[in-house]
Amino acid sequence: MLEDTTEGILPFIHSGSGTKIVITTHHKPDADALGSSLALYHYLTKLGKDVSVVTPTDYPSNLHWMPGNDIVINFEQNVDRAVELARAADIIFCLDFNDLSRINQFGHIVKESAAKKIMIDHHREPSGFDDYRFWTIETSSTCELIYDFIIKNDGEELIDADMASCIYAGMVADTGSFRFSSTSSHTLRVAAKLMDLGIDSAKIHALMLDNFSLSRYRLMGYVLYKKLHIIPELKTALVYLTQEELMRFNIQTGDTEGFVNFGLGIRGIVFSALIIDRTVMVKMSFRSQGSFPCNEFASEHFNGGGHLNAAGGSSTDTLENAVAKFKKVLPQYKEQLLNSDAE
Ligand code: 5GP
Ligand code: MN
Repeated sequence: MLEDTTEGILPFIHSGSGTKIVITTHHKPDADALGSSLALYHYLTKLGKDVSVVTPTDYPSNLHWMPGNDIVINFEQNVDRAVELARAADIIFCLDFNDLSRINQFGHIVKESAAKKIMIDHHREPSGFDDYRFWTIETSSTCELIYDFIIKNDGEELIDADMASCIYAGMVADTGSFRFSSTSSHTLRVAAKLMDLGIDSAKIHALMLDNFSLSRYRLMGYVLYKKLHIIPELKTALVYLTQEELMRFNIQTGDTEGFVNFGLGIRGIVFSALIIDRTVMVKMSFRSQGSFPCNEFASEHFNGGGHLNAAGGSSTDTLENAVAKFKKVLPQYKEQLLNSDAE
């Protein structure tokens, strides 16, 4: 069910020009986060608004092709400008996240800003910082929600090929190229509409998925050969990586994207975890097949959350201790792991 409380703010969005709007999204944005932000940027710019996009951090270079990439302000690299924009904003759109902790230090600035906060998101359990929301957990990507938001407000006329490309990229990413169970008939109808609007689907897939560094593939080989630990009695796969390993392979933002899925490709595996020492914190990604709830596992032990089959969390402990904790708590889920209805 879509929870849409944006009616009250729509007249303000449509009236007058020059309204100052900031769009932000979660740290280390993926294609859904960046694609939804840039699609909304193009739309609001067409409505005559003064729009900026602020990301809390950098993001992978295989997203730099997105139309509008040049205008994005990285908070970490340009704190003063980001703060100035957030303070002066009339509206701050918060896309693809629902808790201010997901935007790091920028969260404090957004919270203190007098701007109205509009959340457009598809994650469980919003923390409630927003003034208006366009929210559901039943849509596969925030990009799909942005399409619905624009269609509802202004129809299809305002959607051009640039906007369509940004939206399509996020849909491809969050549905695993339209294969995850979150892919609905509506998702495919939206994708078809975007094709009619002039996107080059094959090119977008190639820009996103055939556009990685050699370092990533070297690390991938190493991970598959040496670091993919299987715990067969719990149907679990685990990969963990140290700082030293990331440095040895000269790993950049985005290079480990998708590594958490390796484990799930193995017959009989129900739960897969990727634990990485990112120095500021230990970051974890979880994926599952069937009914095993990654989000519950993440929130119960690793200060995180997400969706049933894809979630994440973090720890301020050492990598060694975080991995030890993972192995210690995992057997508590034995029954759920063995009775997950995965094939
Ligand atoms: P990923 O593993 O791709 O980083 O994240 C998978 C899913 O889990 C995403 O939907 C993301 O929003 C969610 N997620 C990842 N890390 C965290 C976290 O630290 N806290 C929460 N609440 N959700 C997370
Ligand atoms: Mn998303």
